[in-house]
Amino acid sequence: MFKKIEHIGVAVKNIKDSLHIFQDIMGMECSGIEEVEEQKVKTACLPIGESKIELLESTSPEGTIAKYIEKRGEGIHHIALEVDDLNAVLTDLKKKGVELIDREPRYGVGGTKIAFLHPKSTNGVLIELCEHKA
Ligand code: ZN
Repeated sequence: MFKKIEHIGVAVKNIKDSLHIFQDIMGMECSGIEEVEEQKVKTACLPIGESKIELLESTSPEGTIAKYIEKRGEGIHHIALEVDDLNAVLTDLKKKGVELIDREPRYGVGGTKIAFLHPKSTNGVLIELCEHKA
């Protein structure tokens, strides 16, 4: 059902400052910056082997990332797991009583289909499920 850790999402106040650390100091490479307007977020992608770090900066004080940082400060926000068939996984998990934030897949970075599970059901870890375009 789960193929790999697709990425780890890190909430940051300012992508430029974070890229200075991850890119300039640590030497990782940024493969692209993308804004997902619907989620009020700007992302920067840093591939590492088969996985990546996804930096998340809120584009609005009302955005979920801004609210997260307000409450908990910067840091790991979610873990994204790649799946083959997001609809099938959502149906299966719902049946098993896992609480879903997204009942239907929505669009994420790079045209992927994504859905979040409620951290209440997963030991406080916010899990994003992610299906790549075929
Ligand atoms: Zn993500």
